[in-house]
Amino acid sequence: MSDYDNQNIFAKILRGEIPNDTVFENAQTLAFRDIEPQRPTHVLVIPKGPYRTWHDFARDGSTSEHSAFVEAVAAVTEAEEVESGGYRLVVNNGDDGNQEVPHLHMHVFGGANCGPMLKRQS
Ligand code: 5GP
Repeated sequence: MSDYDNQNIFAKILRGEIPNDTVFENAQTLAFRDIEPQRPTHVLVIPKGPYRTWHDFARDGSTSEHSAFVEAVAAVTEAEEVESGGYRLVVNNGDDGNQEVPHLHMHVFGGANCGPMLKRQS
């Protein structure tokens, strides 16, 4: 597992040191609203374990944590009622992924069109 900084903002949210607007929670996953929403629905889904990237979670997370995460994403899209209109899932990883908070998080965007994919670099 790559180094995990337990002082990152999402670790503080998980410890209850910083408040959050929870949308869904199960034993191994927390989903809460992004503090600067980019679409009407902008929810962050995070594992409760100390994983920095998708790769860390994929390689070091348990099957039970993986199942809980997948279930949480589905619960969020259902609770936010974005299934019929569609939505986008985004995970930024590391420097090239422009990841700002070093605790794995999946963005769930919905409620309005999310625009095109990344533009080709010129
Ligand atoms: P990243 O760029 O790492 O994929 O996304 C980090 C996200 O975390 C950003 O969308 C940012 O608005 C959100 N964020 C940063 N600090 C906080 C916070 O304290 N609370 C919440 N709810 N979201 C935060």
